[in-house]
Amino acid sequence: MEYDPNNIFAKILRGEIPCRKIYEDEHALAFEDIAPAAPVHVLVVPKGEFVSFDDFTAHAPASLQLGFFSAMRKVAQQLHLPQNGYRIIGNHGADAGQLVPHFHMHILGGKPLGGLLAK
Ligand code: AMP
Repeated sequence: MEYDPNNIFAKILRGEIPCRKIYEDEHALAFEDIAPAAPVHVLVVPKGEFVSFDDFTAHAPASLQLGFFSAMRKVAQQLHLPQNGYRIIGNHGADAGQLVPHFHMHILGGKPLGGLLAK
């Protein structure tokens, strides 16, 4: 799939749409999900034009991949999640229900999260 620069996370990265920012560095932006599925629900978005996990891991420079995953760790640390635990989720494509075609990962926590998948 070709990258659509008008997707909502691209607009957030360009500052055209506001977000509730949690963390930002040269590689990634993290902000609260607008429809939280847990007490803590943060999206981490790399600063680059990648549609999906597959696209990102195949085509992003190694420095950006490392920076992105380091940013995820920093977000979890900043939110004091490691002690009680947290979940990271990445949706790729239709079967996973990916809504926004800019690669992102979800960080969820703040309560026991239950089973992995909804029945
Ligand atoms: P998915 O693409 O299925 O991995 O999930 C996209 C997520 O983006 C959903 O959890 C939405 O609630 C969230 N979302 C959509 N628009 C915004 C926005 N403007 N700000 C924050 N989160 C958003």
